[in-house]
Amino acid sequence: TFRKSAALSRIQPAATIAITQKARDLRAEGHDIISLSIGEPDFDTPDHVKAAAAEAMARGETKYPPINGIPELRRAIADKFARENGLDYAPSQTIVSTGGKQVIANALLATLDAGDEVVIPAPYWVSYTQMVEMTGAVPVVVQTEAEDGFLLTPAALEAAITPKTRWLILNSPSNPTGAVYSADDLRALAGVLERHPNVWVLSDDMYEHLIYGGTPFATMAAATPAMKDRTLTMNGVSKAYAMTGWRIGYAAGPQPLIDAMALAQGQVTSGAAQPSQWAALAALTGPQDALELQRAAFEQRRDLVVARLNAIPGMDCPTPPGAFYVFPSCAAFLGRTTPGGKRLETDEDFCMALMEEGGVATVHGAAFGQSPFFRVSYAASEAELTEATGRIAAFCAALT
Ligand code: PLP
Repeated sequence: TFRKSAALSRIQPAATIAITQKARDLRAEGHDIISLSIGEPDFDTPDHVKAAAAEAMARGETKYPPINGIPELRRAIADKFARENGLDYAPSQTIVSTGGKQVIANALLATLDAGDEVVIPAPYWVSYTQMVEMTGAVPVVVQTEAEDGFLLTPAALEAAITPKTRWLILNSPSNPTGAVYSADDLRALAGVLERHPNVWVLSDDMYEHLIYGGTPFATMAAATPAMKDRTLTMNGVSKAYAMTGWRIGYAAGPQPLIDAMALAQGQVTSGAAQPSQWAALAALTGPQDALELQRAAFEQRRDLVVARLNAIPGMDCPTPPGAFYVFPSCAAFLGRTTPGGKRLETDEDFCMALMEEGGVATVHGAAFGQSPFFRVSYAASEAELTEATGRIAAFCAALT
């Protein structure tokens, strides 16, 4: 008989993916569902990026890559960090992996032992806690407050650290809240970490280019040079260049950490797919004008969704400075009943009923470690967003 490992018994599939699948199933049964549950840009990968992959394949770049990534891409990554973030990394201090996800998995696998602790501010991206659990280490989840813009405070960080803490995971702009840490916010957190040299920082900068209203982007290693020796700066092409399916993420950090991550990667995947690496090279070194067009489109969508949600009596939706999600509170709707007779006790009840009776798929806050909220992805067309927010309004109005 089949027996699952203890490591895998501790984890669950991502709620975001499970809900998106449920929306697909309902649609296949003939239900009309708008899915605002997935974190994927609806733009297409730029043509020059696709062409670079095709050219690489035609040249025969279809063999095993070097484990850490092709040298051309690692050079481009070092250049990117220098140009955009003022960070000085040698190409040898970079690594290319199969999506941003594998960068994080490698870093945790390379450093964590059973009983180690990782501080994760909630609401968090769903995979952090699960990846930590897989290693046998312990996720230490720290709640943040909507009034603080869902940002971790220095006092909350201080309280969460123990001698067993190995990492603090920071994600700015944040999935799911869209919160953004300023350089000053990061320096305040670094002030705490100064007293705790056992704690390293994993800076997940996946949404760097999706930031609005002139908010400047900041990252720990640049904001606090003293932290650079214990920070992994992670990024990728999935969200910035509409390349989720190419599976390329990257990072730069202290050499011993990068070497340990390469050791893990070498035994698990041998490295990221060659044609995808050439495509990522074209994305990082080619024309960047699509970035600004997408950013401007997302900003307009954000404003549309925030305005339309806040027009719903009882809905409270802050305006996030980054990413492509809003994270409104559904507190005002709990304790009420749907026309279908469902009593809404939790944010999960709210989202399930909204999908089944309202025709809009969103993800409950509990999946990201904080209730009672829900995440709406605005990576969809304005027409879809207008229709979806109209449906949410009708759903809320029909509650008794
Ligand atoms: N980090 C965050 C915060 C994300 O939202 C995602 C994707 O959803 C990732 C990392 C993983 O990125 P990739 O698709 O490149 O693996």
